[in-house]
Amino acid sequence: MAFTGRCACGAVTATITVPAPVTVRQCWCRQCQQAAAGGCTNNAVFPAEAVEVRGPLGSFSYGAPSGNTLTQFFCPECGTGVMAQSSGRMHLRTLRLGFLDSGHGLVPEMVIWTDEAPPWAQVDQRAQSYAGQPLAPGQNSSLEIAPDRPDPQ
Ligand SMILES: [Zn+2]
Ligand SMILES: [Zn+2]
Repeated sequence: MAFTGRCACGAVTATITVPAPVTVRQCWCRQCQQAAAGGCTNNAVFPAEAVEVRGPLGSFSYGAPSGNTLTQFFCPECGTGVMAQSSGRMHLRTLRLGFLDSGHGLVPEMVIWTDEAPPWAQVDQRAQSYAGQPLAPGQNSSLEIAPDRPDPQ
């Protein structure tokens, strides 16, 4: 077991059985700002088969301009964000860093959707940043921006 997660009330827990995520990134898209009190979400992307979540999950789905459906999962008891899932990338799970137990040591290496960030946002200059959405992890090693396929998170 490489990582564990727990919501604020303990109803939802998770274990992640890989030693490192595919990537760790921040997202400033509008939907993430709604989920994160006006800030960005901070997310670790893991292979789906490495993630086991236990407990009840609430969810909310919406259509992205790419045509994919994005679903955000949260604890229905305390509201802690647990993870997000894109219908276009069912092999990946995007876990909220705040859901992972402290001591995980993960640091965002990429910042996406900076065009939608508020003027006061502090974007880590050490991270790669993208005005919109880069290609999905593993989709293309060059990580180019694909502005015709916006797909938050
Ligand atoms: Zn909870
Ligand atoms: Zn987002």
